[in-house]
Amino acid sequence: MNNNTFDQETFAQLIPDYIQRLNPYVAGKPIWEVQAEYGIERVDKLASNENSLGPSHRALEAIRQRLSETYRYPDTAGLKLRSALAKRFGVKVDNIVLGNGSEGIMSYIMRTFLQQDDQVISVDATFVGFKVMAQARAEAPIIVPLSDYRFDLQAIADHITERTKIVYLCNPNNPTGTYFTDKELDAFLERLPKRVLVILDEAYFEFAQEFPDYPDSMCYRHDQVITLRTFSKAYGLAGVRIGYGIAHEYLIGNLMKIKLPFEPSDLAQAAGLGALEDEEFLEQTLTMNREGREYFYKEFERLDLHYYRTASNFILLVFKDEEEVMRLHDFLLRRGVIIRPLKGFGLPHCMRVTIGTMAENRRCILALREWCGRG
Ligand SMILES: *Cc1c(COP(=O)(O)O)cnc(C)c1O
Repeated sequence: MNNNTFDQETFAQLIPDYIQRLNPYVAGKPIWEVQAEYGIERVDKLASNENSLGPSHRALEAIRQRLSETYRYPDTAGLKLRSALAKRFGVKVDNIVLGNGSEGIMSYIMRTFLQQDDQVISVDATFVGFKVMAQARAEAPIIVPLSDYRFDLQAIADHITERTKIVYLCNPNNPTGTYFTDKELDAFLERLPKRVLVILDEAYFEFAQEFPDYPDSMCYRHDQVITLRTFSKAYGLAGVRIGYGIAHEYLIGNLMKIKLPFEPSDLAQAAGLGALEDEEFLEQTLTMNREGREYFYKEFERLDLHYYRTASNFILLVFKDEEEVMRLHDFLLRRGVIIRPLKGFGLPHCMRVTIGTMAENRRCILALREWCGRG
């Protein structure tokens, strides 16, 4: 590599237009960066919907037990974890695919089904990973606006064309925390042509399950629906990269042709198995989340902050404009609180705060009180 002779134009010809147009993903600021930049010790990160309780203890134990086996290749079929998941959800092993997080599976889906002229449909403010992966494969997705920060499934159905191949639904939606109901999903699937695939991203379903009208897609096996779930959020394993997809065995069989044989890693598979048995940890997580959620609601109301009720482990805050968001973001960083501005998600006037431990939530509220002039 010689920077003096590098001729970018020559190499640019190697890169298709639809890749050149992409922007790399920008994640939430890591703790160490804020510590270094602002010279502060204590930093609370409530920016990436991670589990503030840390990883599932049983998952950690399972990882420890497999450490000495890491010189061997992982089981390409991931049979142990797939069997455990099949048993848990009352489906066949052939209905399940594992991946490096649910994002890994999303990329398998894109590579398996999408061709140049295919269209995908999504909404203007949702998980960005999907849009980027779709755009790296086919044309830019058709974007339907949210309606009052909720998925408008009727509007999405109105946008289906002959060329539509995949519809991406996120329930509950990241970053808004809102969800669509069982009745809304029923009505949507009723209207949808059978040849259109639905990616139903349920990264937060563990948190949403307590709402009676939340459609748990496992009780809803439709042939055209691919459900995506993950151990990253409720089980605190975001750094391990383990997720799973559930669909008809014909679809899963084709995804398995594309899957990188040795993904997910052996440690990731073991972690998933451990986590799945860790009901105690899940309960602790859900209890912490409920308590934090109610606390935030109460405090946001006191501070007159505009928020949306959530079915997830994060809350959407709506502000006047992007300028206010950027000032608040900086104000909070200086006080060691990281929350997420949502410009990259298509909501420049909004922020998203992850529900953490009560100690973290309180420090966040203290800083927000100061911001609102009531410190
Ligand atoms: C966090 C998140 C994911 C990514 O999950 P991984 O399993 O870590 O890849 C997928 N979808 C949504 C909506 C998310 O918020």
